[in-house]
Amino acid sequence: MSLTSARAADAPLRTAASVLAEAADTRATVVLSGHVQPDADALGSTLALAEGLRRQGARVLVTFPGPFTLPASLGWLPGAEGLVPSTAVPSSPDVFVSLDAASPARLGELAVLLDAAGTSVVVDHHASNPGFGDVQLVDGGAPATVTLVAGLLDELGVALDRRLATCLYAGLAADTGSFRFGNTRPETHELAARLLATGIDHSDISRRLFDTAPFGWLGLLSVVTGRAVLEPDVGAGLVWTYSSTAEAGEHGLPGEQLEALVDVVRSTEEADVACVLKGQDDGSWSVSLRSRGATDVARVAMALGGGGHVLAAGYSSHLDREKTIEALRMELRAA
Ligand code: MN
Repeated sequence: MSLTSARAADAPLRTAASVLAEAADTRATVVLSGHVQPDADALGSTLALAEGLRRQGARVLVTFPGPFTLPASLGWLPGAEGLVPSTAVPSSPDVFVSLDAASPARLGELAVLLDAAGTSVVVDHHASNPGFGDVQLVDGGAPATVTLVAGLLDELGVALDRRLATCLYAGLAADTGSFRFGNTRPETHELAARLLATGIDHSDISRRLFDTAPFGWLGLLSVVTGRAVLEPDVGAGLVWTYSSTAEAGEHGLPGEQLEALVDVVRSTEEADVACVLKGQDDGSWSVSLRSRGATDVARVAMALGGGGHVLAAGYSSHLDREKTIEALRMELRAA
């Protein structure tokens, strides 16, 4: 990369950092939010940036769109106890920061802050991000939003310590599949090394995030994998199954436990695309897609009203189960 293009690539980072530095210097009110049903990257990036800005003098409020419940696997993150519901944040803060949200819709009721805030800053790494907000730090090549936040903290002069590193590592490990996914780059491991050097217990973080579930998980998993359907002739091969928040409840599990199902289903060798339909309380389907590499599921999800990454994406469907799968088959055949 030439010096000129290196500077061009750094420009959004510098612009975003200068907005946040000024907010801290003037003790402005900054509201930060990740996407609805926040995951480790959304929450980790939000909590880390909030703590960094707080240390620099900003008045910080951290929230996320309703429903205001966190999965048990994330509630322990440092700073999570300070999260407030969206109803508790000012309607026109000086600065609003959106983190890990691929579109305004992913901010739910907080999307109005994109216009209502003095300045809105969007920090995200989704390939499908259309570009929104006043200041955009969006890098579709970044493996996680926490890597962009680490850059912001460096630019702001905030030193990484265990508290910040724990939040950043959670997002980094989650979005790279513990450094297994193709989005992992040399600088990803360099950041991980910096985080480990603060003294965080990365083994404990990983166990809490990925390797802990109630016994009922085994029962749910057996039912859901037992009804999986393989359709090798659809696109480059499709494997799909379904469950629901109600079914998770029958096994004594919270609805967010459904998120981990696709990680089991996607190991199917004969199918390039794995799909899990997750029935929501309102009767709609939340659809998770994963690709083994031959299919751009971000494009498929966008065609069906959602978004995401090339190898991991999702959308919502208000059709019944069979019509939802048929619409997906049609997109995959066209892909
Ligand atoms: Mn992410």
